[in-house]
Amino acid sequence: MRYFFETYGCQMNKAESAALELILAERGWESTIQPETADMVIINTCSVRLTAENRAWGRIAHYAALKRQHSFILVVTGCMAERLKKKMLEKQPQIDYVLGNFQKQAFALVVDAAADGRIIPDIEESPQFTFAASHYEKGAFKAFVPIMHGCNNFCSYCIVPYVRGREISRNPLAILLEILQMAEQGVREVELLGQNVNSYNWLDGISIPADYPLDNPLAAKAQVQLVALLDCGAMDFPSLLAWLAEILGGSSIGRIRFVSSHPKDLSERTIDVLAKYPIFARHIHLCVQHGSNRILQAMNRKYTVEKYLELVNALRKKIPEITLSTDILIGFPGETEEDVQATLQLLETVRFAYAYMYYFNPREGTPAAEMDTQLSMVDKKQRLARIISVQRAISQTVMQERVGQTVQILAEGLSRKSSSELLGRTEQDMMVVCKGDSSLIGSFINVKLETLRGTTFKARLVED
Ligand code: SF4
Repeated sequence: MRYFFETYGCQMNKAESAALELILAERGWESTIQPETADMVIINTCSVRLTAENRAWGRIAHYAALKRQHSFILVVTGCMAERLKKKMLEKQPQIDYVLGNFQKQAFALVVDAAADGRIIPDIEESPQFTFAASHYEKGAFKAFVPIMHGCNNFCSYCIVPYVRGREISRNPLAILLEILQMAEQGVREVELLGQNVNSYNWLDGISIPADYPLDNPLAAKAQVQLVALLDCGAMDFPSLLAWLAEILGGSSIGRIRFVSSHPKDLSERTIDVLAKYPIFARHIHLCVQHGSNRILQAMNRKYTVEKYLELVNALRKKIPEITLSTDILIGFPGETEEDVQATLQLLETVRFAYAYMYYFNPREGTPAAEMDTQLSMVDKKQRLARIISVQRAISQTVMQERVGQTVQILAEGLSRKSSSELLGRTEQDMMVVCKGDSSLIGSFINVKLETLRGTTFKARLVED
């Protein structure tokens, strides 16, 4: 049996697609790059922007047409499936399954039924993480590890709480076990994922499945430590980070990152843990979204620019080598030229290494979409262009200052331009290419940054 997979959207979707592909692989299914030869086509969709949904509608229509020539099971999953379940089936009856975010747990049943030539009429919802879930992608040296799902924040422009539900934290032992297994499979860097990782909070005590590998010394040590930790109450994000750092300091995992961080929930304790353990990358993506307190309030972000700058100062004081990146959302309803100036000023003050910058796009069903002070598309595009131009210049300067430094990178693969060049990232999340042998792929190597071209450094290997 063969399957064809398409994934759109965020890292969480990518991680979840990897988990679904593992379910297929465990059952002997093979991936194909030709959908016309597949027995199952799966589309993992995104709802964050209207453009992402329109694109998915196009793909669904394409596969619905293909089904008329060649029979296969068509599965649509992800946030758009969650949001538009009924409408999707009405509009495209060729879809066999619309699996919302709370029905993905049933994917194994869907695959088994497909192998038997059956269709399951009703799929139950289940918001829980599966203990043994793995999000490993074959051959990868970097992997995403979800630690929580959902969001309680309801930023006024965002669809995520409506399609991902409320925050649910994952069992810490399940997180650790997945990372240990990934380490055995060759992974060297993990990125902990959640819509709001800073509000991770495990409250459900310790539950160990019968097949937990107590014969693995690290897993056994972790379980003993966790029992002691949970005796003192819940496990929040800084406790989780400190516990993972203590255990994984003795493993082949060399670097841990995490995303997304909401400034309202980034605590002093978390900053202290990051400063204490060198296993954490010296980079944090801290979404500020805007530089005007009036707009931050209208966005329901629950922090001020002053509070954000305090966090930036605390991070830089305790971890001087850290770099910051952010998201900027410009053109929010009611935004004035003064608000744009405040955002430009914030960029100049913080000097982010890079930023993901967007103009406001109303999402049906969110409060901001109903605001009657919407800006014209021309204004939004012009303001975004100004923001991008200023941030690009800042990024160039911030990166240029690093030329001449010797840094460590994880060699992730070969550069697309040359098979004699390695591609990697610094712990500050900056891209590097350097001449090197493919045998180094998957290792941490020291390089000297020699020049900067665009947003990529050219470097040379440095002997230890
Ligand atoms: S914190 Fe705000 S922007 Fe982020 S997922 Fe939650 S509601 Fe959306």
